[in-house]
Amino acid sequence: MNIAVVVGGASGIGWATAALLHARGASVVIADLDFAAAQQRAADLGERARACEVDVTDESSVEALFAGVVAQEGPPGTVVECAGVSVPGAITDLDLAGWKGTLDVCLTGAFLVMKHAGRVLQDGGSITTIASLNGRQPARGMASYCAAKAGVLMLTEVAALELGVRGIRVNAVSPGLVDTPMTAGVGLVPGLREDYLENMPLGRAGRPEEVAEVVAFLASDAASWMTGATIDLNGGAHTRRYPDLLAHIAAMAPDQH
Ligand code: NAP
Repeated sequence: MNIAVVVGGASGIGWATAALLHARGASVVIADLDFAAAQQRAADLGERARACEVDVTDESSVEALFAGVVAQEGPPGTVVECAGVSVPGAITDLDLAGWKGTLDVCLTGAFLVMKHAGRVLQDGGSITTIASLNGRQPARGMASYCAAKAGVLMLTEVAALELGVRGIRVNAVSPGLVDTPMTAGVGLVPGLREDYLENMPLGRAGRPEEVAEVVAFLASDAASWMTGATIDLNGGAHTRRYPDLLAHIAAMAPDQH
């Protein structure tokens, strides 16, 4: 049986991915900073699902996650790294803690997951990272997130180079705007969601389940010759421009900007 570890699996894209991999027969470990949510999700899935607490910014925590999976389920065949946060702010305003907070979770977290997953993955297994449209499309006010996700894309390629000798495939999915708890704030800024949608040829945000389908494809034998690749999944938003987050925020409070 395929053993799948979904990091950041208690919410949004990670949860949709965990549920889909489980529905397709995998034994799933839902690992998340929010352990209570992960436990609830594992209970929702029932058999072949277990929750684990992990903080991807803490190496000992990530190491313990994979040691525990090997001890309890066996070497995983599929690892998906979905943990992410975003701290917005113009470069000239963004404090160092905000910069580091995003880099620590999105980029260092991806590195630590690859490091410790890569040591225990079955030969022929796969790692899929969730990068972002912002890994290649800049957005005003999103410097730390854009830089982190660009780093994830290159990290994915390097990992593909290094792990290919064991038949391990490492790929990235780069979504545009997907409706999840992470993006709930978009609707609070007047006009921002409309701006996103205007810049998507398909005219709507994505659903977590749509991203999960692509992750499940990359993790499957159907993608057996794909590694070091990125799949864009954004309603066509990469063909246009990214919304000007700073302009929208400034319009909310013109005296403060
Ligand atoms: P989400 O619903 O907020 O889920 C992210 C999960 O990661 C949450 O359960 C969160 O736990 C967990 N997490 C945060 N910090 C962590 C840490 N240090 N260690 C372990 N887990 C941690 O977000 P999402 O929208 O599904 O995002 C999933 C991934 O897709 C992220 O990498 C994100 O950058 C990327 N992405 C999202 C979109 C989008 O539009 N939604 C677009 C492009 C890329 P807490 O709730 O406790 O923080």
